[in-house]
Amino acid sequence: MAPNALLPRNRRHVSLVLMALVVAIFVPLTGCKTVAGTGRSQLNFMSTDEEMSLGRDAYQTELADAKLITSGPQWEEVKAVCVRITNAANRMYPEATADFEWEYKLVDDPNTINAWCLPGGKIAIYTGLLKAADTPDRLAAVVGHECAHAIARHGGERMSQNMAAQVVLTGAAAGLSFAELSPAAQQGAMAAFGAGTQYGVLLPFSRTHESEADEIGLYVAAAAGYDPRQAIELWKNMAAMGGEKPAEWMSTHPSDETRIARLTELMPKAMKIYEENGGKP
Ligand SMILES: [Zn+2]
Repeated sequence: MAPNALLPRNRRHVSLVLMALVVAIFVPLTGCKTVAGTGRSQLNFMSTDEEMSLGRDAYQTELADAKLITSGPQWEEVKAVCVRITNAANRMYPEATADFEWEYKLVDDPNTINAWCLPGGKIAIYTGLLKAADTPDRLAAVVGHECAHAIARHGGERMSQNMAAQVVLTGAAAGLSFAELSPAAQQGAMAAFGAGTQYGVLLPFSRTHESEADEIGLYVAAAAGYDPRQAIELWKNMAAMGGEKPAEWMSTHPSDETRIARLTELMPKAMKIYEENGGKP
């Protein structure tokens, strides 16, 4: 039974009316933000402080038992790519990244083909990923893509969408700032954060988020001086790995062919950025 069905009809009615009011009045005032880089409007009730604090907590939780690599050639390569990508992101999106506390970790886990970047710029790369991202240019494509999720505030947007749903489900329209939500509603929103074991699993992003991260990530990598054409080679490598791919790279996401076709369309602009930043055509 849907939780809403438990409410008397008039309360359900009230919660729907409240939701309509929230959408009509509150969302245009404070809930709508514009995504840096693409200009898309997004629903986001989270303040940057709230996102950053959740990002920090989730980073600690998620990496608590991880075996980190902090020296050697793999670490040096990951560090070099992360430094250049995050510097380029700061240059390209100074407002969106103003409060970021960039941090990157390499996790010794050859069976996990994954990487992620939490709100506020907390990056993790698993050694398994280096099988597909087997050159600095290809690694830069992944790191650019992950950082783009944080730059575009996809985590906060996903939470906000879930918060709006919680308001309808619980009838609790008392407040739409995260701190004012009931613990149950906070937990529901946290599940949408998808930021670690404490909150469930690393949930896949929506198709819109994935396409947006591909686009922003491609330009950031190019601005960092990495060959954007290698993003296509990376996704071909990923495609060849088939079933090994974790949630971040599959399910609701564009198929590898769609993704590659779209990257090809974006390539002229990416090449222009690349050449302006010292890249060779
Ligand atoms: Zn992604």
